Amino acid sequence: MTSLDRRSVLRAAASAAAAGALASGCDPHRDVDAGAVRSAGGPSPSRAGHAPPARARAARPPTRVPGLPVQIAHGPRNGRAVALTFHGRGDPRMATALLGEAERAGAKVTVLAIGDWLDEQPAMARRILDGGHELGNHTMHHRNICALPAAEAYAEISRCADRLRALTGTIGSWFRPSQARRATDLVAGLARKAGYPHVLSYDVDSLDANDPGAPAVQRTVLDAVGPGSVVSLHLGHAGTVAALPLILDGLRRRGLRAVTTTELVT
Ligand SMILES: [Zn+2]
Repeated sequence: MTSLDRRSVLRAAASAAAAGALASGCDPHRDVDAGAVRSAGGPSPSRAGHAPPARARAARPPTRVPGLPVQIAHGPRNGRAVALTFHGRGDPRMATALLGEAERAGAKVTVLAIGDWLDEQPAMARRILDGGHELGNHTMHHRNICALPAAEAYAEISRCADRLRALTGTIGSWFRPSQARRATDLVAGLARKAGYPHVLSYDVDSLDANDPGAPAVQRTVLDAVGPGSVVSLHLGHAGTVAALPLILDGLRRRGLRAVTTTELVT
């Protein structure tokens, strides 16, 4: 993608945001689904031609890490690595622009994909893995999973796992609950039953889903980040795409580097 293309993506995203696009945060007080940016963005590039998606290279399956708690909020505090982790949904052009920014800086990220986004944008699974990034499960529909009856919560986890397996060969490396920073014991148990020994929480909330603008996202992350941090961010937000190079530069100045979550904790 040329810089001109990137600028047009950002302009399109900014106008979608100005038109009232709704955020899709992970916090328990938001139940708004994404889609406004997606629907404002014109035709969906990955559906062109209606060709079935090619199978992406296999994603790393979940790993049980001895010594780590069931819910992981950060990695080692005595290292130099951090993990940038993304709620995976939204305009695929913005997601592609963001992955490109990460790759230009030599950074790896972790995308927790929502199942219905993978249904609409199946090519994104390959794009994420081909960039050397990590892919995980962020439920099928991003409902308030900790408030659902057990059977419905399990279906939200297992249906997204099925999508990931069909597209990549595994259920993905990590599970993160939707609309909750931490899973309840019930949801953590259901995730384990679905094949995920750990739940991926986070210790730095970028608050980027509120669309505060790139400088605020940059400041919020860099003020809080330290060795071992797991940072929560969102695809599908223009301010996050614009903030990423600034965040990566700030990490570099602090001697920190962005790696996959698996590299962070193993
Ligand atoms: Zn989320």
